[in-house]
Amino acid sequence: MAREFDKDDNPLEKTAGYVRLALPLMSQYNIPITPKNYAVWYDYVAGKSKELREAIDAMLDKAEQFSDEINDMLYQRFCAEVDESALANLRDNLRQLLIDVFSQVAQLTEQAGEYESIVTRSVDKLSEGTSIQEIQAVVGDIIVETKKIGQSGRATKEKLKEATDELESLKKEFEQAKAAALVDFLTGIGNRKAFDMAVKGAVEDAVSNTEPLSLLLIDIDHFKRFNDDYGHLVGDEVLRLVAKKIKENVRGRDFVARYGGEEFAVILPGTPIYGAKTVAENIRRSFSEGKLKRVKTAEYLGSITISVGTAQYRPGESVEDLIDRSDQALYLAKDTGRNRVATEADLDSQGGA
Ligand code: GH3
Ligand code: MG
Ligand code: MG
Repeated sequence: MAREFDKDDNPLEKTAGYVRLALPLMSQYNIPITPKNYAVWYDYVAGKSKELREAIDAMLDKAEQFSDEINDMLYQRFCAEVDESALANLRDNLRQLLIDVFSQVAQLTEQAGEYESIVTRSVDKLSEGTSIQEIQAVVGDIIVETKKIGQSGRATKEKLKEATDELESLKKEFEQAKAAALVDFLTGIGNRKAFDMAVKGAVEDAVSNTEPLSLLLIDIDHFKRFNDDYGHLVGDEVLRLVAKKIKENVRGRDFVARYGGEEFAVILPGTPIYGAKTVAENIRRSFSEGKLKRVKTAEYLGSITISVGTAQYRPGESVEDLIDRSDQALYLAKDTGRNRVATEADLDSQGGA
């Protein structure tokens, strides 16, 4: 079932309208902006399948989380099956969008020939394995070329402006959606994906600048019990406070992310292990010495402690090795009583636990 465009409608406007509806929804429900997920949510807002609409609406009613498994299931059930090339549909929409911009431009300019070949090339790029990033790059190319024509063209300004404005805002929305996909919805700090990207970059920088680099893994102690005592909503608020407190204890270059449910990670560029230990101790102490208060009402939220494991990057090792050693140190901190910091050196003195 190929997606159809009503010839009487403006396909540019229609596609842009659906994109504009789909992207914010995906951000709101913390759904990674992958081509497959995008195809699902595009179809959802475009109302292409009643079954898909009902399935998503039912999930929204029950406030269910869109886990990777659920996202995959939605794609397999409603997009891949109904039309095994849902991705091709997405590309078709964008191709249609570009062709439409082209025809608006072509009618109005004398240099349509050159422009046409650029647009054709860009449209061709959309034919295979297109990711959101690639789509964004293609849209960017078209904007540049459309602008060039605008500069030399004659009575084209008005129409061209409309077309480029539309493309510009689409591009911005793609960028915003991509940025939102790296933010943890609950705490507003980087999510796991952002961490994975940042730690990879930090290791590369450490290697090329021959600088030290350390990592902290932080886990809230007995948080399950805290949730049981105070409820999940208070637990969520504590997670936000923990993110805030960690950020208060690090510097501008440092990167804080939510690594998992009640686990956080801090990347410390330019920092050797003894510096990392100091940062970790400061963070730990800021919890063990104070009570948590709700920001707005100053209401008491109980108290929590945290455990921290830390390791320094060793030249030649993989990112996973660094994470693994920090994780082992974290487990040592847990095993030896919680509310403490353990470094990789402590692992060695334990006979490499
Ligand atoms: P430990 O000291 O060994 O780390 O004990 P723990 O209870 O913190 O560890 P465990 O891994 O057994 O449980 C983690 C708990 O964290 C489970 C869940 O109640 C809580 N948690 C994880 N993610 C969230 C979240 O998003 N919100 C809330 N409120 N709680 C969460
Ligand atoms: Mg944990
Ligand atoms: Mg825990």
